[in-house]
Amino acid sequence: MRKVPFSFELHPARSEHIAKQLPDRIARLVAAGPEFVSVTYGAGGSSQDASLDVLKHVIENHPGVRTMAHLTCVGSTVQHAHETVRTFMDAGVHSFLAVRGDLPVGAPEDAFPGDIRTAAELVQLIHAVQNERRPWREVAVPGTPGITVDRDGRERAAIAVAAFPNGHPSSRSWQQDIDTLLAKQAAGANLAICQMIFHAEDYFRMVDAARAAGVELPILPAITPVTTPAGLARNLELSGEQAPADFAVALEVEPTEAGRREIGIDFAAKLTERLIEGGAPGIHLYTRNMHEVPLAVLARVGLIDDARYAQLIAPEFTSEAQAI
Ligand code: FAD
Repeated sequence: MRKVPFSFELHPARSEHIAKQLPDRIARLVAAGPEFVSVTYGAGGSSQDASLDVLKHVIENHPGVRTMAHLTCVGSTVQHAHETVRTFMDAGVHSFLAVRGDLPVGAPEDAFPGDIRTAAELVQLIHAVQNERRPWREVAVPGTPGITVDRDGRERAAIAVAAFPNGHPSSRSWQQDIDTLLAKQAAGANLAICQMIFHAEDYFRMVDAARAAGVELPILPAITPVTTPAGLARNLELSGEQAPADFAVALEVEPTEAGRREIGIDFAAKLTERLIEGGAPGIHLYTRNMHEVPLAVLARVGLIDDARYAQLIAPEFTSEAQAI
């Protein structure tokens, strides 16, 4: 079996129905052995409690699985951000993905009079809170992107940031995106996680440009496996990315659900394969809180062996996990 780190992104459940199914799905995902699972956070703190509940669920029911909390800073005061980071750390979460978040569409700039303006400032703040608790001297752990240990061998949490292989939609230039990534690195980030991509070349081009500019962070490419035309459309709208036309057409014209599922898994597996072959340090999978398709993609590229995959998707798979 291949050994390349992979990780999963989860969301707080958006309905009671999903909330009931989430413990089972999380149990199957974490049993595959991810490097970490990250949990998204509503801009402005709208999902703080729900995000924390998912993270606490993983910590309590799946000890040993690394967790990463996304945090946003748009509209947040320094004091509130400090309190939030401490709240998450008190709950046992030590790794963070610091993102700015977006104001609701149409909201006036002054509707959220926070004093943290960029993700780089949030990185600095998280770094400061971590240092308050433990003074560090970092040593990178080979093979584990973003994970470092202190001189006593205790693990230091990741402070991850977002990277945009095709540029952030509000960026004026490609150079501005690279400069933003450099600023995040200078602020103390030790890992970058990409916006979802549909073309491996987009990732490699950005990594080359970032390296040439002095970015040394491990940069994890991210994939959202999609198996329906509606799912593809939703993800393209969310990310501003473009999918290869032949993939979009193939999904559109395929009449059966099983056929569309196969097309989606095959596409995501080939993309993962190209990223790994090209030297990506790991693969981050946006799961949309589903387990079957992301696990199928990992099995297809040999990151989970076939027997284990069969167990992980079997109806009789059981876990002691409590409800969230
Ligand atoms: P920033 O790094 O602050 O930058 C955004 C843009 O602002 C830059 O590209 C640049 O154009 C400009 N900029 C920043 N700093 C400067 C500067 N010093 N000078 C000039 N221009 C500057 N959103 C959520 O609400 N919740 C989540 O959980 C979440 N998770 C995400 C996970 C990943 C992996 C990714 C890629 C995105 C995620 N987002 C999430 C979306 C993110 O909040 C938005 O994309 C947001 O618009 C940008 O966030 P950022 O952290 O890149 O912002």
